[in-house]
Amino acid sequence: MSGRFDLHTHSTVSDGSLAPEELVALAKAKGLDGIALTDHDNVGGLGRASGTGMAIGVRVVPGIELSVDIPRGETRSAVREGQDADAAGGRVEVHLLGYFIDASDARLAARLTELRSDRATRNARIVAKLAALGIAVSVADVEREAGFHADQTKSVGRPHIAAALVRAGAASSVRDAFDRYLAAGRPAYVPKSRLDARDAIRLVRDAGGAPVLAHPFTLPAETRAETIARLASFGLVGVEVVYPRHDAALRRGLAALAVEHRLVATGGSDFHGAPKPDIELGADTVGRSVVEELAERAQR
Ligand code: AMP
Ligand code: ZN
Ligand code: FE
Ligand code: FE
Repeated sequence: MSGRFDLHTHSTVSDGSLAPEELVALAKAKGLDGIALTDHDNVGGLGRASGTGMAIGVRVVPGIELSVDIPRGETRSAVREGQDADAAGGRVEVHLLGYFIDASDARLAARLTELRSDRATRNARIVAKLAALGIAVSVADVEREAGFHADQTKSVGRPHIAAALVRAGAASSVRDAFDRYLAAGRPAYVPKSRLDARDAIRLVRDAGGAPVLAHPFTLPAETRAETIARLASFGLVGVEVVYPRHDAALRRGLAALAVEHRLVATGGSDFHGAPKPDIELGADTVGRSVVEELAERAQR
């Protein structure tokens, strides 16, 4: 395998702690050949990252990470670790990566703006639930954690609320804040508005990108293969096989499904910096051929 590429990373444009430029500089320092920047609901870091990449010799693949609902009829299983399911409806959230998207695509941009505005509504609801629990954290506190004042196009979410809770002394760590308040099924949980899986796959393809299922360990094991087959029929191009939380058996199973459905087997670390201190940039990587295959299958 030639080259080392980490195809799943986050920056300060969403919930990572490094600026896009710093992330690319870290990739260089780690000896990586390239990264994909895949911020949640946001393409605002892509120009900045690729500018740095060109200057210092790190390939930057433009990307995005979207939250989607898996097709109905496949969402009945109980909530499992690492999985966000809404207590009432049993809807399961999965993440869709889009590689080589055109960051200037108008329809994609409009949809992302809507998703970020829905996040603001949801963040206010979470803050209200926390207030009802006697925890005084304001939307302004949360936005301060995200650096929102300096850039009002950032994606603000639960990791920023978690950071505000830690600062206020209501939780001992980001993880503790999720476990006590913010995770699915916990008292301040509010579901995020999500795209339907088929629509999201279409949105990414129409923006010239290659849609890839992120970290499938979050899917219920019994229906995982069925869900991947269904997403493939909607135009999915790849599946994330290599990922820190995927053990060897899961990687083998996913690699077999990728062959069966002609999907590109991708991978990356899901690096966030401080919010996920145990995950290093480049913790999981793929070779250059994977990047080339994605580029080839991304289409207008
Ligand atoms: P949001 O998009 O606002 O729902 O926030 C989701 C993000 O929170 C994920 O992408 C993870 O980075 C992070 N996250 C989710 N669950 C946890 C958890 N249990 N502990 C720490 N971070 C988490
Ligand atoms: Zn994240
Ligand atoms: Fe994700
Ligand atoms: Fe991610």
